[in-house]
Amino acid sequence: MLGLFLFGCGQNSETENNSYEIKLAYDDEENKLLGEMTVNYYNNTGEELEFVCFHLYPNAFRENSSQSIVSLANYNRAYYNGKSYGDIIITDCNKEFSFIGEDENILKLDLSSTLAPNDIVILKIEFETILPEINHRMGVGENTINFGNAVPILCVYENGAFDLNGYNSNGDPFYSEISDYSVQISFPEKFKIACTGELISESIEDGNKLVSIKADNVRDFVFILSEKFEVLTQDVGNTTVSYYYYDDEKPEESLKTSVLSLQTFNELFGEYPYSTLKVVEASFVHGGMEFPNLVLISDSLFSYETYTTVIIHEIAHQWWYGLVGNDQYNYGWLDEGLAEFSTALFYEKNPEYNITREQMTLRNQSNYKVFETIYTDVLGSVNTNFNRALDEFANEQEYVYTSYVKAYLMHDSLYEYLGEKKYLKCLKYYFSNNKYKFATPESLIACFEKASGRNLESFFYSWFEDKVIIS
Ligand SMILES: [Zn+2]
Repeated sequence: MLGLFLFGCGQNSETENNSYEIKLAYDDEENKLLGEMTVNYYNNTGEELEFVCFHLYPNAFRENSSQSIVSLANYNRAYYNGKSYGDIIITDCNKEFSFIGEDENILKLDLSSTLAPNDIVILKIEFETILPEINHRMGVGENTINFGNAVPILCVYENGAFDLNGYNSNGDPFYSEISDYSVQISFPEKFKIACTGELISESIEDGNKLVSIKADNVRDFVFILSEKFEVLTQDVGNTTVSYYYYDDEKPEESLKTSVLSLQTFNELFGEYPYSTLKVVEASFVHGGMEFPNLVLISDSLFSYETYTTVIIHEIAHQWWYGLVGNDQYNYGWLDEGLAEFSTALFYEKNPEYNITREQMTLRNQSNYKVFETIYTDVLGSVNTNFNRALDEFANEQEYVYTSYVKAYLMHDSLYEYLGEKKYLKCLKYYFSNNKYKFATPESLIACFEKASGRNLESFFYSWFEDKVIIS
């Protein structure tokens, strides 16, 4: 029997994308990014608005910020040159503005008059972002300069308010809508660039490269600079896969894994609709990081097998985060658990890698048990619920072993219960219903129930409410 659907499987409203026109200039002597941005903001909220909010993630990198950028365990690998700070300064704006939230991480623009539903307002912001010396999403790293979350980005409006969650070092604390980007960047000509979207033009003037980039229907915009990049490319259908590297001794194999990931996930979940996918070896403290059309793979992973697994996991995020969005602050497990399980599906479909889903499942079960046992022994008890906001996890380990490992085990258990064919039918349905939108735990349940014809509410809630015993 099918349950009653209190929540739909996907949002139905078709709305106009907000658009960003951005001009950026990078000064590598001062580690400074100068920016001018014009945002065409469409009031898709259905309500009258008096103000509009933007995230200012670089403020989390300031001295004395309340959130640490990395956990203590990763501190030394991140700050390779000792502690270093970043910042974002708003130098001009066409509206009255103020800062709110912890570490002034939200920019609030007061609209001079009420913005009616479906009306548009043009917002202009000028800013300076200071990059810290750090191997992180945003920072001057040892081999690459990473510009993740370096420019202001609109907050999502939902349930009558803007989402104002700030930074958190436990996970990827980001939540943003599909938008259109048109970006011009100038930077010293010694650098090569990898970026979200398509390079429209490139010229050189007075020792600087000037590039124009167009990226439509993406959740964010990122670019990476390096003097060391070499590039390999291969086309898959309408998509050019580019692999940027400098230290990799097996670049052809890494490109092959990237190409196979795109082909495998196109087939399993639904077509990747963009013309470019960039896989970028980079200075990065964690294993990897997903951005729209571009993934970072850390240059300091301890084995090539791990490097390969990170490529697959991050490319899976193009579907789970990129195309099917979610509130990563409140439901980090929704995309992480699925990106992990997608990696197992990849290995299942590509036997030449000699890793099976069963092996991954056994490894995850045993890792999870070790985590649970050690933390229970040390602390007396441990919170193993993954369905929590990032600031509710005691530490990074608790977040990783629940939101990645345990959420993987939930998908694996569902796969075993429904069988491969039905599980994949559900996943395709979940993808097509939530593409370019946001999924929630409720829409995940609704899609799986609808496509499988099974009542799965008690299955999912036993995991969400942490009632499942992993043996
Ligand atoms: Zn991930």
